[in-house]
Amino acid sequence: MNIIFLGAPGAGKGTQAEIVSEKLAIPTVSTGNIIRAALKNGTPMGLKAKEYIESGKLVPDEVVIGIIKDRLSEDDCKNGFILDGFPRTIPQAEALDEMGIIIDKVIDIEVADEKIAARMSGRRVCKACGNSYHLEYKKPQNDGVCDACGGELIQRKDDAPETVLERLKIYHEETEPLKDYYEKQGKLFIVEGQEEVSDTTALTLKAVEE
Ligand code: ADP
Ligand code: ZN
Repeated sequence: MNIIFLGAPGAGKGTQAEIVSEKLAIPTVSTGNIIRAALKNGTPMGLKAKEYIESGKLVPDEVVIGIIKDRLSEDDCKNGFILDGFPRTIPQAEALDEMGIIIDKVIDIEVADEKIAARMSGRRVCKACGNSYHLEYKKPQNDGVCDACGGELIQRKDDAPETVLERLKIYHEETEPLKDYYEKQGKLFIVEGQEEVSDTTALTLKAVEE
């Protein structure tokens, strides 16, 4: 099954994508994680993306479309995949169609803007491996330390409050129209994000099984 997770930054789509990925034993492809890894390793693509990602702007379509083309052609995507953070614009969605990729479901995690800003301030990522955590919703076993690798947990630059507002604005302008795009194809499933992550997960799994 090929699934897309849509939603505002900080809505919790990454967390849900990981859970579904484990359950269905198919990989999650997160453009945000791929770009952050490239940035950390100082690759040419990472350097190109740096100013965009740090200021909360979208990385140009041709760059992310290139990333996705390469990643989805790898062996582990043959039996299905979950896209987390792609597509984020209509041209990106059209690029998937042009690649001949059939999307089965688009799961949109909805959270009101007012709640997003508060949630983002609690978000932390592992400096070493990129795993994400939340001070309230997804606590690491030991404060400030990654469960997976023992790395240090830090706040992402683009999770700073001013940048979050910019990212929300871009989400509404550029990404939200994708709901309509996939609704017209009969593929859109809306999940209302709940206070408890486990409640959101139950609704997400229901949408996956429908
Ligand atoms: P979130 O979902 O919390 O916004 P991501 O890790 O998905 O975080 O994305 C972080 C940043 O990476 C975005 O703000 C953008 O700069 C860049 N990015 C990730 N995916 C895309 C994409 N599909 N198109 C353009 N930019 C992207
Ligand atoms: Zn780690």
